[in-house]
Amino acid sequence: MLSGIQHFAFCRRQWAIIHIEQQWAENYRTTAGELMHKKAHDEGSFEKRGNLLIVRGLRIASRELGLSGQCDVVEFHQSCQGIHLAKYEGKWHPVPVEYKHGKPGENHADELQLCAQAICLEEMFQTSIPDGFLYYGENRRRSHVELSVSLRDETKKACAEMHAFFQRGYTPRVKPSGRCKSCSLENLCLPELQKKMNVRDYIEQSLNAADP
Ligand code: SF4
Repeated sequence: MLSGIQHFAFCRRQWAIIHIEQQWAENYRTTAGELMHKKAHDEGSFEKRGNLLIVRGLRIASRELGLSGQCDVVEFHQSCQGIHLAKYEGKWHPVPVEYKHGKPGENHADELQLCAQAICLEEMFQTSIPDGFLYYGENRRRSHVELSVSLRDETKKACAEMHAFFQRGYTPRVKPSGRCKSCSLENLCLPELQKKMNVRDYIEQSLNAADP
């Protein structure tokens, strides 16, 4: 799933618990984010405002990345550099807009997700998309994101790693960090167990203590 790239960038173990082990848990942040996406999606709706066509919930996929998913919003700006769209005259340039509940700069994962969306759209429409936008609910502003070569390379690298983990069915070990406090999977992942003795050492210690 394309949205998994965000989990992967946040914590590889979180991604594996969700996408390989198929486990999920909600917290305040995930619920608020879900509500915001529901508002933004309104799947398949088209709205035309002059030279702008707004499409919500567009389903996207990329063979190159091996991902599929959905865009919150794709804006098609009328432009001679754009592509042809059925039922609409002229040419239209697609620009992805991803909606986020929080505020800018909290997590580079947002840029990776947006970049993956743009790569899907480029493949689907055979065009190039040099930039996109992240809309943050907390300040109700859009941030412009340049889809640079380095961001694209980082996105492709993350996708390749996700596929490698998925094929191995590999869930990385816990690496407790400050992010665990905001992670909805904390009670499934149990990072605090990392600080405790493992079962083998516990049994060995108990047997040694029992030896006369
Ligand atoms: S609790 Fe921490 S280590 Fe575990 S999945 Fe969440 S962020 Fe990752």
